Amino acid sequence: MSAFTYIDNHLYCEKVNLKKIAQAIGTPFYVYSYTSIIENFKRIKKTFSAISPLIAFSVKSNSNRAILRSLAREGAGFDVVSGGELQRVLQAGGSPQKIIFAGVGKTPDEVELAVKKNILMFNVESLPEAYLIEEIGRLYGRKQNVALRINPDVDPDTHRYITTGKKENKFGIPWEESEEVAQEVASLEHLALVGLHSHIGSQITSPEAHILAMERLRILAKKLKSSGIELKYINIGGGFSIQYVEKEKPYKLEKLAARIIPLVKELGCRLIMEPGRYIVGPAGALVTRVLFIKNAVEKNFVIVDSAMTDLLRPALYGAYHRIVPVVRRNSSRRLIENADVVGPVCESADFLGQNRRFRGINPGDLLCVLDTGAYGFVMTSQYNSRPRSPEVLVRGTRWFIIRERERIKDITRLEQVPDFLI
Ligand code: PLP
Repeated sequence: MSAFTYIDNHLYCEKVNLKKIAQAIGTPFYVYSYTSIIENFKRIKKTFSAISPLIAFSVKSNSNRAILRSLAREGAGFDVVSGGELQRVLQAGGSPQKIIFAGVGKTPDEVELAVKKNILMFNVESLPEAYLIEEIGRLYGRKQNVALRINPDVDPDTHRYITTGKKENKFGIPWEESEEVAQEVASLEHLALVGLHSHIGSQITSPEAHILAMERLRILAKKLKSSGIELKYINIGGGFSIQYVEKEKPYKLEKLAARIIPLVKELGCRLIMEPGRYIVGPAGALVTRVLFIKNAVEKNFVIVDSAMTDLLRPALYGAYHRIVPVVRRNSSRRLIENADVVGPVCESADFLGQNRRFRGINPGDLLCVLDTGAYGFVMTSQYNSRPRSPEVLVRGTRWFIIRERERIKDITRLEQVPDFLI
């Protein structure tokens, strides 16, 4: 199912007209399709059903508790990278025994919280981190499960900012040192080395890079086995691509499954996957209103009421998102070409799209920025003292506010003026 479709030239999310939501709560706002999120999750589950993997949704891609709750109810696990994400998952009713804690810079407080909550495992990225978990495990008299995040040095052919499994990236334990580090970790009294993990990047369009990374982990797992270390889990990470441009091909999950299932069976491990974007990306959109249209010498500017503060990906990675009208107009109307869709923020990087074409759009019209369910709201900021947008979840004909629009008082709430200034 496509989460967003036109019915009589009006754009709908499931069975809700986006114009109706805009009339009720104003703009900009994020909107997500519940059914599409669940379908995307179930597609992965079904494709890998032969080995029943633990599908640990990557919370960094979208951390709204209503979304986490939706996935927890389907049996999802969660990949978290901070104490904050861990708390969110627990608040949303996620099971601690399905939580995996990743990240290169875990603080002692975060490790302690995770140990106390009895999470399934840590993905360990360095020896000093292993020693920290060992120390806290000792304090609590617990043996803590860990997997080693290996940097397999494979090139996933994606944007350099979202490549994480190459030699020069900060993530994971270098492939060359991995056996030695594994032996050391396995020798620690309060750690149980239960798995190997690799996450090589995001928006990876071909399964080949994932397969190559898993082949490397298999070699290491076999070496460890021959020295008496039996692993229970093998974690492929996330990174499965979505189609930001219609002509792009869908990620070939079946092809990945055909190669990975036998490998996992051979190792006798349980597979863990950490998809984020694949589950929520296409299920979400940002709806915004045109404020002005400015015709400059070189370009046209469609100035809208959302900005890089609402959707950072275009400014950060030059990411492309389709931008479509919420109400499609007669095609004979005025054509605006070479148009940049920009926000009100005082930065030249503040754009949502560049060099676009629109037919017959006017100030006051609504535009929809598609495929923004992942790394959209979670990267928002209050720069320029802009309140964050609300988030809405649609299911069938009903819609629910799952995060309210911020107000100026929310932005200033934690600030204090010292006495000497009063
Ligand atoms: N796992 C780890 C360790 C990550 O760093 C990320 C994102 O960068 C993911 C999973 C999720 O990636 P994606 O949203 O591309 O599936």
